[in-house]
Amino acid sequence: MTQNEETLLRRAIELAAEARAGGNPPFGSLLAGPDGQVLAEERNTTLTDADISAHPELKLARWAARELDPATAAGTTMYTSCQPCGMCTGAIQRSGLGRVVFALSNEQLDGLKPGGGWPQVPLDGPALYEEARAPVEGYYK
Ligand SMILES: [Zn+2]
Repeated sequence: MTQNEETLLRRAIELAAEARAGGNPPFGSLLAGPDGQVLAEERNTTLTDADISAHPELKLARWAARELDPATAAGTTMYTSCQPCGMCTGAIQRSGLGRVVFALSNEQLDGLKPGGGWPQVPLDGPALYEEARAPVEGYYK
């Protein structure tokens, strides 16, 4: 990791501290262009917004999908205080961001929580393939 990348990652950690100081879970992220210029910053606001999806990574991915053309998005790097969760990873993939640099891993984060990580949700499927594929078939070209 370069010195500039460490500086950007430290800024994401500062944003996490700002989130906590503002009454929210301690997570922060920023999006930087290819030259390291900061394009946008976000803090977790899940508690103050009463919105379980108000993770900084998801907010930045939505911003990038709205505001950046695909080539520009692909040239960006997200710096984030913690490895993105599954919800945010999906949004990052769909928004076409180029790369993610994180500080804490999910395993390290779980080690800092008294109860560990999130409970697993039981999943049943796949099912009804012939019926379910009808509205999808031919959509993706
Ligand atoms: Zn997340």
